[in-house]
Amino acid sequence: VDEMNIISGALKFKKISVADIMTTISDVFMLPYDTILNFDTLTLINNSGYSRIPIYEGNRDNIVGLLHVKDLSLIDPDHNLQLKVVLDFYSHPLLKVFEDDKLDKMLNEFKQGQSHMALIQRVIDNGVKDPYYESIGIVTLEDVIEELIQAEINDE
Ligand code: ADP
Repeated sequence: VDEMNIISGALKFKKISVADIMTTISDVFMLPYDTILNFDTLTLINNSGYSRIPIYEGNRDNIVGLLHVKDLSLIDPDHNLQLKVVLDFYSHPLLKVFEDDKLDKMLNEFKQGQSHMALIQRVIDNGVKDPYYESIGIVTLEDVIEELIQAEINDE
């Protein structure tokens, strides 16, 4: 193997930011916090095919939690349980990163094992209000690994 290629791939990894590879917030399948788990919503969740679903309150850029679809496996659609009950019970950590954080740092954070999905935030400072955060996308371990493999293939 050519060590130079591996090194240049690793260097590139330090330069690519999470925002470059994220799934944009408008493309993210998410659900409102006040969802009732019934036949329709459970079918919708299953049909989405995703294993993790961000949960928002009010606005789609106000993400308050993360649902793991496997947490729903024993839920009876006839009980009309509130999603927030499941969410509060498991309360999975929600990893937050800044849009310009780089992939090497992101991979290290995923390696801590807290979560394999991170919410990407941008600081909005328009001088009118106090600066605040807006969620602009998500990134998962799979996105990072894919980029890593791609970098190696391109450098071949
Ligand atoms: P899954 O296990 O749900 O298939 P992965 O972590 O393997 O999710 O990610 C596969 C791709 O789907 C990635 O590009 C990721 O950004 C995207 N993704 C993951 N969850 C969601 C979601 N809830 N809505 C939209 N895209 C998602």
